Amino acid sequence: MAAAARPLEPDADARAAMMAAVTAHAERFLEGLPERPTYDGAGGGAPPVFAETPGAIETALAHIARHIEDPGIATASGRFLGYIPGGGLFHAALGDFLAAVSNKYAGFTPAAPGAVKLENSCVHFLAQTVGFPATAGGSLTSGGSIANLAAIVAARDARDPKGGGAVYSAPTAHHCVDKALRIAGRAEAPRRTLPVDANYRIDAAALDAALAQDRKDGVRPWLVVASAGTVDTGSVDPLDDIADICARHDVWMHVDGAYGGLFMLCPEGRAALKGIERADTLAVDPHKTLFLPYGTGAVLARDGRTLRAAFSATADYLTEFAAHDDISPSDLSPELTRHFRALRLWLPLQLTGVAAFRAAQSEKIALARYMHARLSEMPGWDAGQPPDLSVLAFRYRPATGDIDAFNGRLTKHLQDQGRAFFSGTRIRGRVHIRAAILSFRTHLEHVEEALAVLNEAARALEAE
Ligand SMILES: *Cc1c(COP(=O)(O)O)cnc(C)c1O
Repeated sequence: MAAAARPLEPDADARAAMMAAVTAHAERFLEGLPERPTYDGAGGGAPPVFAETPGAIETALAHIARHIEDPGIATASGRFLGYIPGGGLFHAALGDFLAAVSNKYAGFTPAAPGAVKLENSCVHFLAQTVGFPATAGGSLTSGGSIANLAAIVAARDARDPKGGGAVYSAPTAHHCVDKALRIAGRAEAPRRTLPVDANYRIDAAALDAALAQDRKDGVRPWLVVASAGTVDTGSVDPLDDIADICARHDVWMHVDGAYGGLFMLCPEGRAALKGIERADTLAVDPHKTLFLPYGTGAVLARDGRTLRAAFSATADYLTEFAAHDDISPSDLSPELTRHFRALRLWLPLQLTGVAAFRAAQSEKIALARYMHARLSEMPGWDAGQPPDLSVLAFRYRPATGDIDAFNGRLTKHLQDQGRAFFSGTRIRGRVHIRAAILSFRTHLEHVEEALAVLNEAARALEAE
């Protein structure tokens, strides 16, 4: 039996051969990335089925290249401007590799005190970045949706244990907030939909009025959800004003900063996000604004005890077999066994320095402003609102015909063409093209190319 199980334990030579093949494969992918189409409509073929006997790594890599890396959107490309997460830092991939090799158990402090210290220091770095006090706590999650869910559960346990409290949010809030309320058993909570201004930011005076009205009517306000960068336009709600209002009405302030929150690392972001540090809970996404590969979000609470109250649990088989000062990540989140996520966050910051991240963020904001300025000058284009951060929504106004239908066709045409990837959305019901500039690989030449592609495509479609 041991002999038959032997393939599970490759020796040093076999490991070196696999590493060499994987490294060569990754290099081919990265070297080809600048020329790679941003979209490939092929479906992705079925993987080879599992055989009883060992397969060659070449066969596996060939499948990965042709049927996994090629089809769909090239999210790692500098010309991918479609949805918010892009990137995939190489250093982070090495962190993932090392985390999987040692397979340290990062959920429970006595099992891996150093791994937990690393995770807690990463959480501390994120909390400090957003301006939270030393009493803050948090946990690395798989993404922003789970971070928002964890925050809403903490808010529920702290302020709405029996239900009935009202929730205040704008139509611009991410749909994961509704999902989180549903999962948290608050689908039936009284909901107040807040109006937004011309820049798609929550109207703070309307929030104040809604809270006062509910108090007058005997409804207990529970939770205000604001956005630090909405998904459609990157709009930042007036966080400082909202914090004043929440303090006055004694309501929980949750900020969804999955897209924008970590722009607090750069000066332009700090100017746009003033007041974020006053939130009770905050969701952020290092797999967006810190350019990490998918699978890293974080929930932060200004008082870390609120997360602990919501998620700590004990079991007889998990005894604290060693003394330590560090709280276990499993006491701050619904997960127990989990990927050692901190290594993919820590290694890039350690190897490149924080300044490189700060500079990349400032560059993205500058590129978005530049793109908006250029679109404003280009004949036929409606550039939309100036970006608060690095997302733009704009549209073309053809000389004749239906504007919505034209922009829908234009978005599809651009996507199929594969030179630069844009997404489409509806703003106040009207079809817009959306550019999210958030890849560390996107630079001025990519934005210039994107602008040229937009112009050429609009003219071509208009001429049809
Ligand atoms: C991306 C995003 C989310 C969801 O985060 P995931 O990491 O995709 O789960 C929530 N809110 C906003 C504003 C986002 O941009």
